[in-house]
Amino acid sequence: MPLELARNRSIAVAMLIFLLAAFWGGGGSSSLASTEASLLENANACRQSLYRSNKKMQYRHNWAKCLGQYKEVCDGYPKSGEAVWALYFSARMYTKLYRYSGLEDDLDQAIATFKKIVESYPDHRLADDAQYRIGEVYYEGKGNPTQAYVEFLKVDIKFPSGDMRGRARDMMDELAEVLSREKQEKKSLAGGEKQSGLARVRNIRHWSTPSYTRVVVDMERPVKYESHLLKKDPKLNKPRRLYVDLEGAVASDIESSIPIRDGLLRRARAGQNSRDVVRVVLDIDNIEGYKIFHLHDPFRIVVDVRGAKTNDEEEKKKIENLKKRTRKGVRRVKEPDSEVTLARQLGLSVKRIVIDPGHGGKDPGCVYRGGIKEKDIVLKLAKILALKVEKELGCEAVLTRVDDTFLPLERRTAFANMRKGDLFISLHINAHRQAGIAGLETYFLNMATDDRAVLVAARENSTSEKNLSDLQTILNDLMLNTKISESSKLAHEVHQGMLNRLRKSYKGVKTLGVKQAPFYVLIGAEMPAILVETGFVTNPSERKRLLSQSYLESLADGIVAGMSGYIESIDLAFQGE
Ligand SMILES: [Zn+2]
Repeated sequence: MPLELARNRSIAVAMLIFLLAAFWGGGGSSSLASTEASLLENANACRQSLYRSNKKMQYRHNWAKCLGQYKEVCDGYPKSGEAVWALYFSARMYTKLYRYSGLEDDLDQAIATFKKIVESYPDHRLADDAQYRIGEVYYEGKGNPTQAYVEFLKVDIKFPSGDMRGRARDMMDELAEVLSREKQEKKSLAGGEKQSGLARVRNIRHWSTPSYTRVVVDMERPVKYESHLLKKDPKLNKPRRLYVDLEGAVASDIESSIPIRDGLLRRARAGQNSRDVVRVVLDIDNIEGYKIFHLHDPFRIVVDVRGAKTNDEEEKKKIENLKKRTRKGVRRVKEPDSEVTLARQLGLSVKRIVIDPGHGGKDPGCVYRGGIKEKDIVLKLAKILALKVEKELGCEAVLTRVDDTFLPLERRTAFANMRKGDLFISLHINAHRQAGIAGLETYFLNMATDDRAVLVAARENSTSEKNLSDLQTILNDLMLNTKISESSKLAHEVHQGMLNRLRKSYKGVKTLGVKQAPFYVLIGAEMPAILVETGFVTNPSERKRLLSQSYLESLADGIVAGMSGYIESIDLAFQGE
């Protein structure tokens, strides 16, 4: 690979210059080079001698020896420039070692080591090289083009003035094609797969809290389901029970009886009721009401049962309401409508809205030609929105930042929780490499379901330590505490509100829809929370609009209208029945 050679040569030249500088800059010292420099030199010699011998490369201990020498440099002299080079060379070695070992571990080591450079030495000239290499390892080593794209995108975002940007963009072009081809193939596969085979029940999990128990049935893919509540049967000595029939499903490798015994539920049972129906039965000790709904990606059916604890008349009425609704039978309604959340049950009305202007301080967000910065535009919008929220909704508006200061993502929702906000809205501006891409996008927190959502999330999450794949895993656990259905409803209302309002005054207002993705800024919000991408700074028409006061005013009007629609819908839910 000529490129590879050129790269190595330029590194070698840089090394030489570096060593010479160290040599001449040694001042009064009589030694030729510092200890760390000579340690690095030895390690390099070890590596070069290894690479010269095909036979040596067959044995792992030869690799380990050189890697150990590099480790001495980074562990012993972590503050030196040599440490960064040592990390870089050892990460490269792990990548190459994988070709001999075939061990996934070696690739993971390579990624972890490159990542250490990016995270611990972000200002070093090797940081963007390391970020680029991470993309390469995901693409060539791990065969994961989606993650590779995200990693190359990070080069583009985190190191806009680095020399790897061009190469990263070339890779992104290549990967964009690979990904769209894959998507096509997946689509045609999915079409043929639908009819064949039954969906496996993967797992049944449960959590107990003092007031309710949640049972989650994990499915291999979406299925239709029906639930029924059965009375106690003294003759057969059977307790009250709630069952859920899963159509087109098979219960192959799950336990048939899962003890719960928390005072509300005795246990959960699962079994093949007929050839293609799995019945999940919950044996009841004492419950007041239940609700059942499903979530996507992965598909799972959630059953919440509530204990009979309250003496309060109003509470009782609400629980009656709940029961009435759940008795209506089959829950096959769309997600946002099927879940009656705590906020609704308690009839909380919205009093305080937290507005989060994205980015700030050292993190400018999207930047167009140096001068136009996301952080400035969204701050302006947030202030306009705050005034309208107070004036038109009569709610208190709280801003997470009121000036150009940096605020880590995780602090933003923590702030919202501390201030006991009832709604949380994070304001952002989009960017895309193609100037033609335009439109409004509104997100709520969930697993990402489309590729571009993954990319937007990667960009918005880029100041966070956690990477995206970690996030998807963490989310699996956190989801259960998150107000997904309320947030989804709020997202739809606000999105429609913006479109309606903007279309009154502007031509060709585009929408990319309401989407879900794992945004770090939305995780842990104890209230319905959304993120709005108000337009593309890379699109000439939207950029022009975003820079005008009147467009921001209209945007804010639309958001307020959407919030108002959402608040009304909560109130209606209580007056009706
Ligand atoms: Zn942003």
